[in-house]
Amino acid sequence: MLNIILCGAPGSGKGTQSAFLAEQYGLAHLSTGDVLRAEIKSGSELGKKIESLISAGNLVSDDLIFGVIERFIAQLPKDCKGMIFDGYPRTVAQAESLTELLKKNQMDAIMIDLMVDEQLLTDRLLERGKISGRADDNIDTIRHRIAVYHEQTEPVAKYYLHKGNYFAVNGNHTVEEVSLQLKRIVELATR
Ligand code: AMP
Repeated sequence: MLNIILCGAPGSGKGTQSAFLAEQYGLAHLSTGDVLRAEIKSGSELGKKIESLISAGNLVSDDLIFGVIERFIAQLPKDCKGMIFDGYPRTVAQAESLTELLKKNQMDAIMIDLMVDEQLLTDRLLERGKISGRADDNIDTIRHRIAVYHEQTEPVAKYYLHKGNYFAVNGNHTVEEVSLQLKRIVELATR
């Protein structure tokens, strides 16, 4: 099984590149952000709590995310070729629980870190905000999300760096150029 964790700051291109990798290698794509936004759309009580956290640019709790991951893994088709995790893990606690969960299922994962300059991240998110309608794509929330990323998610990259299955990619280039780099890494990692 090819399991990929695509990590990177908000605006680094995780969503776009995860969709590309899912298509290219026939992987099941899990965007935790999409799952949470679907919960908000359902109008549930839980959705309302999630909405206030997301629109403020804060992370939702590790416990809630763990439930999302467990359900996703439990309902994978038997012939699944692998998974791509988009926007997860975002904390070291999430990374540790993912390692355990994968181990329990005799699996592992590689982590690919999309590195993008901060000014470009902000420009991309502001541009996306014009069409996404996302409550968190405005300048104040973008700044806060990037700060949360440095504080809580960057240590996740270090966790995988120490684990030994870590790859970094320069995400400042065009979508096509980054996709090509990702393909090269996946081919190298699975040789
Ligand atoms: P994204 O679509 O990946 O940019 O995620 C949007 C928002 O959903 C984030 O800013 C967080 O509030 C929340 N979120 C998504 N994934 C996670 C996660 N793994 N852990 C905690 N919060 C998350």
